[in-house]
Order: sequence, then structure tokens, then C-alpha cells
Amino acid sequence: MSNEKERNLDYCLKCSTCHTQCPVVKSHLPFPGPKQMGPELERLRLARGNKETLEIDEALNYCTNCKRCDLACPHGVKPSFYNLKNKGKLQNKFLIRFRDWILAHNVWWSKMAGRVPALANLALRLSLTKRAMGMVGIADRDFPIYRKHPIKISKAVRDKKALYYAGCYASYNEPQIIQAAVNILESCGYQVELAPVACCGTPMVSNGLWDETARLAGKNTDIFLKYIEQGYKIVTTCPSCGLALKEEYEQIIPGEKSKILKANVWELFELLEEEDNLPFEPAEKLADKAYYHVPCHLKAQGIGIPAANLLKDLAVDELVVDDNYCCGISGTYGFKKEKYPIAMDIGKPLFDDIKKSRATLVISDCGTCKLQIVHGTGIEVKHPAEILARYLKKAQ
Ligand code: SF4
Ligand code: SF4
Repeated sequence: MSNEKERNLDYCLKCSTCHTQCPVVKSHLPFPGPKQMGPELERLRLARGNKETLEIDEALNYCTNCKRCDLACPHGVKPSFYNLKNKGKLQNKFLIRFRDWILAHNVWWSKMAGRVPALANLALRLSLTKRAMGMVGIADRDFPIYRKHPIKISKAVRDKKALYYAGCYASYNEPQIIQAAVNILESCGYQVELAPVACCGTPMVSNGLWDETARLAGKNTDIFLKYIEQGYKIVTTCPSCGLALKEEYEQIIPGEKSKILKANVWELFELLEEEDNLPFEPAEKLADKAYYHVPCHLKAQGIGIPAANLLKDLAVDELVVDDNYCCGISGTYGFKKEKYPIAMDIGKPLFDDIKKSRATLVISDCGTCKLQIVHGTGIEVKHPAEILARYLKKAQ
């Protein structure tokens, strides 16, 4: 689908299908929904020369950027694009802007915390820290645990090359996902390198920092293109990072470079679908019954659920697949004090469905979905790469 079509408001026929799929509409009645916040208001903005923000624009703060409206639109309109673009023009109160700026730059704090994880984890549990965060509008909830773990990568030179982009969450909170992805790629015959890129920009653009995201997207794209020219495939395991590289960069910095990047980015299990011989072998199943929650940003990539069949064949006797519910956290959204109740309300049907399923293991590709599901159910959540790496054939 071309950018022209995505941006062509005339494709919106006001059918309201997007409205019916927006999780915020259901949980926060004052939110007017994607049809009105996206294409309808964009027409009005354009008619006014795009010079002023509208009073109603403040409601854009409540869009989670889940992309469910984009997926729902039968005419290829992407309401979330207009929401993100116009969020960048909002003049919020200072405290909200400051809090959103802190959350948008999660990668900076993660880098610091990742150097002294034990100290950072202790500090995040202190009531003094929680009080200070509460004063700037950050919710009192569990924060991800910081971990440091060296990653083992083979130095063997091979014809097949993968640049693995882990993203912030796996890099600073769950490095075992990185090791698992590296092991899987190497077992498929890839020479693997870790991408010298930290944040993809999703937390920034979701918090209204459009210009800063555009600069970061340009810088990241240039780095990725250097590897693509050398024959590397860009591989991700974080759905939001993957979606940013495949879709959002093209919207934020349209042009030939972002098109080339999009054509060379693969989600790990999407790439494995291309392999003739997979490097897995049966072993003891990890659970009788597991529940696989498909994150909104994986769904939005339009690649199906490539890990599901492998999980069914190898790891569990029964797999309940959910691609219906949003967990509600949406990156930094559920960490905001005034949005936290909405995030939990959006996630409730998912938490209830997980509990009803009686699954003993939950699987999901997204780090923040994991945080939200553990927070809402108390059940352990693992990334599919972590699980499937256990089934790699042992070296002879
Ligand atoms: S991106 Fe999600 S929250 Fe935002 S308008 Fe679309 S469906 Fe609603
Ligand atoms: S954006 Fe698409 S789904 Fe939403 S009202 Fe317009 S045509 Fe319908």
C-alpha cells in the first residue's frame, strides 16, 4: 500500500469500522475514536491550513497507538498515522510534557540502569522513588527488572548474514531473549551481528515527539542500510521495533531509503518460515496447556502468527491462541497515572480469558505485553524465542 493511499483522506467513507475496534473507545467514553480523531479532524485541520490545533485534539493523548484501527479499515486508511502526527503538535501542560518526555526517553534510563542493575532494581522498589515518580504523573505499578548478561556469538564467517536488532526491552531487561534469538539464527546457518542501534523511536513518537523521532529514524535507517548493502537481513524479535522499521519509518520519513529498509526487515519466525530445514528437534514439552497472546504490533505487521505452529509442534500439548484482545499497556501508556486505569480496563478481558483457559504458561513476543499480563494475572510469560531455543538440535 502506498503512502499516498494511506494519506488520502478521500478513501475514508466514514463507515466507523475502525471505531468499533478501538480499545480506548470501549474503556474511556470521552475518547471520540479513530474515525473522528483521524480522518475527520484531519480534513478540518487541512481546511484551516493546518496552522492551529483544535480544542478536541487534546483527546489524542488517549490514543494508545495500538494500530487496531488501521487493521480494521477496509479502505486502507491509517487513522493512527494522523493521530501520531498531530500528537506532535499538542501543547500539553508542562508536567504532562515533562512526564511524557521522561517515558519517551526510556532508552537513556535503561542504559544507566543496565550498568548497575541491582542498584536500579532496588531504587525502583523504594517508596521514596515511587512517590517522586507519582509527583510527575507516573503510575505506581511494577517496573521491568534490569538484567545484564553477556551474549555469546560465533565469530564464524558465513554466506547468510543477519543483523539482529533486539530493541530496548530485550537489551536491558531480558537479555536471554537475545541469546535465544542468536542461537536460533546461528543454528539456521546465519552469521549474526547485533545491531548498533538502541531505540527504534516508538516510545518517542507515541509520546508526541514527532520531529525527534524523524531524526532518529533517519539516523537508524542509514545504519541499517549500510548492513543491507553488505547482504544482511535485519531481524527483530520485538513487535513494536519490527513495526517501526517496516511501517512507521515509511510514514515518518517517506522515501526510497525507508522503502529499502522495509523490504529487508524480518520478524525472526517470519524469517524461519523461509527456511527449508529447521534446526529443531522434539524434546520434553514445556507445558500441557499454554496461552499465546499475539501483540497488537505483531498483528499490525500482517505476517500472521509465524511462531504458533512451531510452539504447537514442539513445546506444548495444547496452545490457545489469542489475537483478539489488546493487553492495554501500549508501551509507556499504561505507566501514566491517569491512563493506568484505562490500560487495566482494556486488559481485563485478556486477563480473564487467560485465567479461564487454565493455561500454566503464557507466551507473548512483546516485553510490555508481558509486564501487563504478569501484572494482571500473576502468571509467568515467556517470549517464543526463549521457548523454541530449548528445542534446537544439539551439536553432534
Ligand atoms: S491506534 Fe488504537 S487507540 Fe489509537 S485510535 Fe487507533 S485503535 Fe484507537
Ligand atoms: S478510517 Fe476506514 S474504517 Fe475508519 S471510518 Fe474511515 S473508512 Fe471506515
